[in-house]
Amino acid sequence: MSHRRPSVSASIVNLVASFCFLCLLMPSVVASAPAVDLHELNWYVHVDLIDAAVGEDLAHWQGVIDASVASANRLLEGGQGPFDQPCCVRLGRSVSVTIFGTPGDGLDVIDSSADQTAISNAGGSGSNAFLVDSITYCGGFSPGAIGCGLKPACNGKRNDDPNLWMIVTVESFDSETLAAVVAHERGHNSCLSHVSAAECQLMQRSVFTPGLPGCMTASECSDYRAARTTTSSGLECGCYDNGGALLEDGTVCTELADGLCSGGLCGPFAGDAGVKLIAAAAPGTSAGGPPDDALRISALSGEWTTLAQFSGAAEDVRGMAYALDSETLYGVVPTVFDDSIVTIDPVTGTILSTVGTIANGAAEIVSMAYDPGATNAPEDDRLIVIEAAGLNGELRWIDPASPSTTTLLGAIEVHPTSLFTGLAYDSLHGELFAATPFADDGLYVIDLSSCPPSPCDASQIAAAGLFRDDASLAFSPDSGMLYLVGTADFGIEFAGRTFYNVIDPTTGTSVETLSLDVFTPAGLAAIPEPGVGIGIATGVMGLSMVTRQRGRQANLGRA
Ligand SMILES: [Zn+2]
Repeated sequence: MSHRRPSVSASIVNLVASFCFLCLLMPSVVASAPAVDLHELNWYVHVDLIDAAVGEDLAHWQGVIDASVASANRLLEGGQGPFDQPCCVRLGRSVSVTIFGTPGDGLDVIDSSADQTAISNAGGSGSNAFLVDSITYCGGFSPGAIGCGLKPACNGKRNDDPNLWMIVTVESFDSETLAAVVAHERGHNSCLSHVSAAECQLMQRSVFTPGLPGCMTASECSDYRAARTTTSSGLECGCYDNGGALLEDGTVCTELADGLCSGGLCGPFAGDAGVKLIAAAAPGTSAGGPPDDALRISALSGEWTTLAQFSGAAEDVRGMAYALDSETLYGVVPTVFDDSIVTIDPVTGTILSTVGTIANGAAEIVSMAYDPGATNAPEDDRLIVIEAAGLNGELRWIDPASPSTTTLLGAIEVHPTSLFTGLAYDSLHGELFAATPFADDGLYVIDLSSCPPSPCDASQIAAAGLFRDDASLAFSPDSGMLYLVGTADFGIEFAGRTFYNVIDPTTGTSVETLSLDVFTPAGLAAIPEPGVGIGIATGVMGLSMVTRQRGRQANLGRA
């Protein structure tokens, strides 16, 4: 077996230097929502990044910037769990991205104090953001930096201190962290400093792939909002109430023609906003823990809340699946010997009843998926499960009408099979997927046509790169997407992380990768939201220069 941890791809170092220098995108019409504090930035791309021959003209880079800013806004405005203060703030731009510098002037690689001074003098007044190739200087020698932002004197003067600047890099874009870096560096412009507790926090000094962090405290949100560039954006956070709390998931929002609120964001009901995820989990830790609580997760933003403990007896649930045809949420309670099949109320998160007992002794069902069969009637439904014993395991199926017996499909010859803790069936394409911590890709396709007879062919999806501990997986036929939650840690020095992915099952590619407030999952199910399918200042003062660095884990010690 090959079982490994994701590597650290980037880190940030906070440098303090003495410088004598003082230093968005979804229209809303809901009347009672809070106003967006808008940060309008003037964006510049260094001339040496323009290479029309390979398709990298100015329009290309403007598209890169706009997509990253849109993603950054989702991090800021959406929730990522109980720690996160969703923040009614967006970044935007009022003018087109323009080119700065002259060919060969070296400002595509910021590697000296002189370069930094040139950046600070470039652009007009207001808040300027620069896209360059790379950075090795940010208030000092900073090898591997992927962003750099001016932190002004935080003297209470807000509403766009003039001549603020931030620098982000193509290196960051290439490592798929640009959205978080944009939001982070503007956080420095907004007087935010690095935080020591990392996990999902936006202002951590490191970006750990594979997930973008977006969590802020209430105080950080307040500072971020105060650094707006206009006091009257004319925009509103349509999925917040007028007190700043998030509207309930599934609430109709008017920013889109068919919009539903999900985790503080307004999204099309035919997409992730139309999906609510229920997880079996231990909230508040990524280091294991009994999965005896039901969590509700927004498929759009990753926002999550604890619904309830599954039962008064604190029963663990491992493996969940939602049977669409019968509108029944199933789970497995792996008691010491036999396993129980239970039904769970998807609204309250509590166990409704035990409907079956699988007499499997010390073997345990570790994951469950739902196959709706050929018809919309429940009679041809199947629950597909992986049952593990020691290092070995088998794929079996359960008829929900007689849930005390299982039928063998075939062995899974990847060991230990007990690590196949995520299972989901794409009923649109007839494909069974499994999520595991096995390198290099974690995500498997299990070929149901290969078994019975045993074994079932299981192969990793090349280049998926989605290996997770405690992996849990679900599929929604409403959005057509796979949803993955799992954990990873980076050694004893660093807190573990909980990651959330939205995966296109036709390619195995993750289209959204977020770092959430921590929990340890053990099961995941996707349920349609009820409405889905119906339509519906200049001066002289010392200041802190803060830099975001890219490099290996060792860089973290330098602060
Ligand atoms: Zn920073």
